[in-house]
Amino acid sequence: MATVKRDYYEVLGVRRDASPDELKRAYRKLAMEYHPDRNQGDKGAEERFKEVGEAYSVLSDPQKRQRYDTFGHTGQQMPDFGPFSFDSAFDLFDMFFGGGRRSGRAAVPRRGADLRMTVDITFEESVFGAKRTVEVPRADTCPDCAGSGAPPGITPATCPDCGGSGQVRRAMQSIFGQVVNLTACPRCHGEGRLVDHPCTRCRGRGLVEERKTIEVSIPAGVDSDVQVRVGGEGEAGPRGGPHGDLYLSFRIAPHPQLIRRGQDLVYELPVTVTQAVLGDHITVPTVNGETVVDVAAGTQPGRVIKIAGHGVPHLRTGRRGDQVCIVRVVVPAHLSARERKLYEELGGRDGRPLEVRRGFFDHLRDFFAPAE
Ligand SMILES: [Zn+2]
Ligand SMILES: [Zn+2]
Repeated sequence: MATVKRDYYEVLGVRRDASPDELKRAYRKLAMEYHPDRNQGDKGAEERFKEVGEAYSVLSDPQKRQRYDTFGHTGQQMPDFGPFSFDSAFDLFDMFFGGGRRSGRAAVPRRGADLRMTVDITFEESVFGAKRTVEVPRADTCPDCAGSGAPPGITPATCPDCGGSGQVRRAMQSIFGQVVNLTACPRCHGEGRLVDHPCTRCRGRGLVEERKTIEVSIPAGVDSDVQVRVGGEGEAGPRGGPHGDLYLSFRIAPHPQLIRRGQDLVYELPVTVTQAVLGDHITVPTVNGETVVDVAAGTQPGRVIKIAGHGVPHLRTGRRGDQVCIVRVVVPAHLSARERKLYEELGGRDGRPLEVRRGFFDHLRDFFAPAE
């Protein structure tokens, strides 16, 4: 083929005394401009892409450049010049821009961040579970540009500096010679793409702030150290990426009379001396409403009365613990004259400790001992 080759300096649009840096800049600009991925099916651009690559491959090599300066295109007849093909042009491009990314595609959209929220719930909700709507302030994909950051109908341009990879290779001199580092492309901030007139709604971020109302199920038996994962309700990912997850924890309002201990609910049952001595049927509060417990005659302080199945359900098995009532005998501090007289009639003040079979500490041991 007898096509006339254009002068390499002319192809790159530089002067004959151009510095290596000037050559580099010229090649970068032209190679991006004529890259076949950006000029689908344009034969002219393809030819120019190859021509620019060939010119740069010769002029960037000091030896080849010198020979070219002396002999012109005839210098290429020399064996080590070799033919310059399309593949050579692509290889050069990949080497120059950091390799492996001929298509110029940006990376797959990243997943959004997880969110954490604390929800205030009542004591009863923690025991029985509930459905609640919560408002989650979070980032969502911009509805106007579907996260692209570009106005509808506009496809963002591939960043010419990094060829769409979002990363650039930086050659640096070290004591070991030249080392190459990968860094985020400063021009496109690592996105691999450029938008001239960004979407007005999200100003190019691709994300908008929103308050999403979602319904969540509070599991029965939840405790304040339990986290509930709500899949896909976290922040949207940049550039239309999927949502992260939402993690809910719960701040449980205290109950005025019941204290949770594992699956059990502990209740202090205050009784009068008379109730402890003579026994009584006493109405006590539970999470299921009031119920009557039988306090036997001769009930000692610290005695445990269990109300089976009135505790907190286990998160997985649903099995409920018990309500544990601990008897506290309230000794009257102020007596009427008649009460005082009645107590005096009972006697028992002989100046020595009472002989007892089981004491307060035995009851405590029973209560805290692990179940057999
Ligand atoms: Zn870039
Ligand atoms: Zn937008």
